[in-house]
Amino acid sequence: MAKTVTSQLRSLSRSAANPAEPFRLLAESIPQLVWTALPDGRLDYANRRWIEYTGMTAEESRGWSWKEALHPDDRLPCLDQWTTAVDQLVAMKLETRMLAADGSSRWFLVQAEPIFDQEQRPICWFGTCTDIHEQRTKQRLIEQRCQRLVEAAHDGIWEIGLDGSTLFANKRMAEMLGCSLDDLLERNVYDFIFEDDLDTAREYSLRRRSGISETFEWRWRRVDGREQWTLAASSPLVDGAGHITGAVGVFTDLTDHRRKDVSAAETTRQRLLEDVVDTVEAPVFAKDLQGRYIFSNRYHTKIRGGVQNEVLGARPDHFIASELADALSSNDRRVVEAGHSMSFRELVPIDGQVHEYISLKTPLRDADGRIHGVFGISTPQPETTRVNEQILTTLSDLSLANQRKDEFLAMLAHELRNPLAPIRTGIELLRIAADDPAVLQETIDVMDQQSRQLVTLVDDLLDVSRIARGKIDLRQDLIDLADVIDQAVTSSRPLLDDANHEFRVEIPDCPLQVQGDSRRLVQVISNLLNNAAKYTPRGGKVDLIVQPEPNRIGIAIRDTGIGIPEHMRERIFELFTQVDERQHDRYSGLGIGLTLVRTLVHLHDGEIQVHSDGQGQGSTFTVLLPSASSNSSPGTAAVENRARQ
Ligand code: ADP
Repeated sequence: MAKTVTSQLRSLSRSAANPAEPFRLLAESIPQLVWTALPDGRLDYANRRWIEYTGMTAEESRGWSWKEALHPDDRLPCLDQWTTAVDQLVAMKLETRMLAADGSSRWFLVQAEPIFDQEQRPICWFGTCTDIHEQRTKQRLIEQRCQRLVEAAHDGIWEIGLDGSTLFANKRMAEMLGCSLDDLLERNVYDFIFEDDLDTAREYSLRRRSGISETFEWRWRRVDGREQWTLAASSPLVDGAGHITGAVGVFTDLTDHRRKDVSAAETTRQRLLEDVVDTVEAPVFAKDLQGRYIFSNRYHTKIRGGVQNEVLGARPDHFIASELADALSSNDRRVVEAGHSMSFRELVPIDGQVHEYISLKTPLRDADGRIHGVFGISTPQPETTRVNEQILTTLSDLSLANQRKDEFLAMLAHELRNPLAPIRTGIELLRIAADDPAVLQETIDVMDQQSRQLVTLVDDLLDVSRIARGKIDLRQDLIDLADVIDQAVTSSRPLLDDANHEFRVEIPDCPLQVQGDSRRLVQVISNLLNNAAKYTPRGGKVDLIVQPEPNRIGIAIRDTGIGIPEHMRERIFELFTQVDERQHDRYSGLGIGLTLVRTLVHLHDGEIQVHSDGQGQGSTFTVLLPSASSNSSPGTAAVENRARQ
């Protein structure tokens, strides 16, 4: 309106005597506050509306006093603009609050135009103040509402310039990107784009520049590096002049949607997978880090008893023997420690039969890559599908033998120390009392006896080792058993006497010839005599009876000792086996004597039998050797009877 009035009046003023006159005439008739000013900016006229509104008289408004009519907060910027316009002689347009006569204020649009004469010299300024208070207040309200809407929006709103810098963003946008609003206002859109998405982002930016609006799914890289999926509605940002100055986007958080989509897809996939896995005729399972089943396919459930609920949550040792279960668990642990798939031969008992499987085990990882369990699939070994109990027995025998060996080593150390202690004491005694003949003799006797024991022990050990390596050499002489027995008795006598046993030998008066190694046979008989002496309480009875049979000769050694429980009768011939290593404290022993005895007897093509009526009932060991002459005939003669000493 002011503009139209101005242009009409401009032509009138050019022809008038006082160029401002036509303006003033009209100014009184319009509803706006109208004023004119000299070219230097001083006000020289204000219309009636001005006087009514401001309460200032025409006089009071003249010069620069009009500025008092401006709201104090707007005064400086207004004066600034006015002096610039005056200096540069250019039109001015501004919005300001003006004080009314009653002290209230309203918004006005102030417009001023310089008026020039024919020679283009400034004549005066023509100015209007249009009341825009209602309009402006409405506008403000709308702006505030918009602001509130933008702030309360569930979606992110983001305005960016052509270079990607943030022009405006709401709190929700900042929230989705994981930063503060202040931070976001400082940042560039490219700070939130994944490397892989850069090309696509540039394409979108080009389309915005060419005026295209579109909707698409977009993921932002949050400041913590995680993805934020959004549905983007993006449009070009256009300024008042119709130029594209950037882009504005509204971004809807898709996290929940995607999660739902993903979890629905996941459930379908999982079901499909379970169906497939259920059809596999092999155990497929998963366990947590505590070894509890968290998954079991139909086949696996079947071999574990058939009830899924009982399998899930249980550990393998709930279903199978602990040695086998331990082996499975230890393989699981190796996979967890290694962090990659491994395969193992595993023994799995099914319906009382042990089957061998190759199990491929893989660590299970969560979304962050942490291992939380083990997944496994076992395939039967075609060539050895059924591994019978024998493998198990062998395995357990091996572990038993190993255990016995360990015990043996401990015992051996102990047994070697026993004779060494008196020998050391003997050496000390010899140092101190070497000139006392009585002490000297006794000490030498003790040392002699103990060192013999040591030698026997070491000899036995060497023999065991020879047997183990198959390196025992036997002489093949024709020998008289009576001589053998004689030597054995001589060797064992100290032990028998020491225990105060009544010892008797019954030997027939006939040739007792066998083929073999006399030293080894002495060892056999003497070992049995020693055992009889050791395992019979003091003052017992020990008999050695030779019983010729048609083709063989039996030598029975009978005692009235502690006897042998039935379940141990076969086992005592095994290496390192003792019925109870604490059963005798008087004598040493390593559990190798009877092994040697049996091996030597077998090497002579003979056999050894043991008989006992049980604990405390005495024992009889009988060695049967093939006789070398067939003319040995029954008939006995006591060669020796020895009463208690
Ligand atoms: P050691 O006597 O060194 O222990 P052996 O191999 O000679 O080893 O004997 C094995 C085990 O057999 C002995 O520990 C003992 O328990 C048992 N044994 C051997 N002979 C007799 C016996 N005459 N009476 C009772 N037990 C015996």
